[in-house]
Amino acid sequence: MPTYNYICHDCRRVVRLFFTYAEYDTAVPVCPHCQSKKLRRKIGRVAVAKSEDARMDSMMDDSALAGLDENDPRSLGQFMRKMSQEMGEDLGDEFNEVVDRLERGESPESIEQSMPELAEGMGGPDMGGMGDFDDF
Ligand SMILES: [Zn+2]
Repeated sequence: MPTYNYICHDCRRVVRLFFTYAEYDTAVPVCPHCQSKKLRRKIGRVAVAKSEDARMDSMMDDSALAGLDENDPRSLGQFMRKMSQEMGEDLGDEFNEVVDRLERGESPESIEQSMPELAEGMGGPDMGGMGDFDDF
């Protein structure tokens, strides 16, 4: 049975109560020490995994971005490779091909033309929307 920890506002004790999940929806916790109903859920220390967004943000702050030259395919390719490594995901053959070709110095326009399905995702010079990478 799940255990819920509360702090009693009246007697300041930490109260441990047991509810089934069904009960928890409707149950009114009552302090077993002073019968107060002024109990507040005590949320335990939770290890919060860095969310996808936070990870993106930290990448955006990364100095690698400062070194990114959007007009230099190699720089762009290295940046995209780093992005995919940071995300820890295999973004697929098409993504890898684009990165490879960028790193060889091929222009994004040229790659776009040979891979028309990517044209939308590449989005021209405005690579600002990182969501675009999802389209690969
Ligand atoms: Zn109490």
